[in-house]
Amino acid sequence: MRGPFDLSGRTALVTGANTGLGQAIALALAEAGADIAAVGRTPAEETVAQVRAMGRRAEMVPADLSTIEPVQGVVDRVIGAFGGLDILVNNAGIIRRADSVDFTEADWDAVIDTNLKSVFFLCQAAGRHMIGQGRGKIINIASMLTFQGGIRVPSYTASKSGVGGLTKLLANEWAGKGVNVNAIAPGYIATNNTAALQADETRNRQIVERIPAGRWGRPADLGGAAVFLASAASDYVDGHILAVDGGWLAR
Ligand code: NAD
Repeated sequence: MRGPFDLSGRTALVTGANTGLGQAIALALAEAGADIAAVGRTPAEETVAQVRAMGRRAEMVPADLSTIEPVQGVVDRVIGAFGGLDILVNNAGIIRRADSVDFTEADWDAVIDTNLKSVFFLCQAAGRHMIGQGRGKIINIASMLTFQGGIRVPSYTASKSGVGGLTKLLANEWAGKGVNVNAIAPGYIATNNTAALQADETRNRQIVERIPAGRWGRPADLGGAAVFLASAASDYVDGHILAVDGGWLAR
C-alpha cells in the first residue's frame, strides 16, 4: 500500500553514490521504491548492484563534478534514460585541511567548485525540469559547518555555509512551483571524509565526548531523513536544514 513515504516510480539522481553518505542515501531511497541514477567520478558498482537486488532500476552516470562542464549533460542523460527526474541529492563533496594562514588558492577553489558551484548548477538544471513538471525534491547535503565555524577547513566551511544559504534561496524561488528544496546537515559520520578525524586519537575523543548520542553517526543514520525529504511527507517543508547529528547542535 502506498503511504506518504513511498517513492515507487520516482527517479532519484544521487551524486557521489559509490560510498559513504551518498551510498547509504541511495540505498534508503531505493528501499522506499525509487530508481537510482548514481552520478560521480568513481564507479558505483556496489551501489548499483544493491539497488538492482531490491528490484529497482539503477544506472551509473560518470561525471567529474569539480567543474560544471558535465552538469547539464548528466541531467539530460538521466531524464533520457529513466524518462524523468523527481529527486536530486547533491551529496558529492570534498574537504581540504590546513591552517588558514597557509591555505592555498587551489584548496579554496577545488572545494568551492565541487561543494558549492556544481551544487548550484545541478540544482538549476534539475530545477528547470522539475518546475516544468510542477513537482520535484532537491536535497543538498550541508554540514555542522553550515552552522558552526570549524577549524582548519576554511573553504569547506564557506562552501557548506553557502549550501545552507542557497537551499533557502532556492526554496524561496521554487516552493510555489511544487519543488521542495531542503538540506540535511549530517553530524560526525564515520566515512572516508572523516577518516583523518577518526584516526586522530585526541580529536576523536573530543568529538565523541561532545556528541549527546555518545557515538559517531553511521551513513545509514541519514536514510530516514533522506526518504522524508524526498517523499510527499515533506510537501510543505521548504528551505529547512535538517540536522542528523546525534544531538551535536543541541549541546
Ligand atoms: P566520502 O569522501 O566518502 O564521499 C564523497 C563522495 O563525493 C564520493 O562518492 C566521491 O566520489 C564524490 N566526489 C568527490 N569529488 C567529486 C567530483 N569532483 N566529482 C564527482 N564526485 C565527487 O565522504 P562522505 O562523508 O560520504 O561525504 C558525502 C557528503 O556529506 C559530502 O558533501 C560531505 O561534505 C558531507 N558531509 C559528511 C559528513 C561526515 O561526517 N562524513 C558530515 C557532514 C557533511
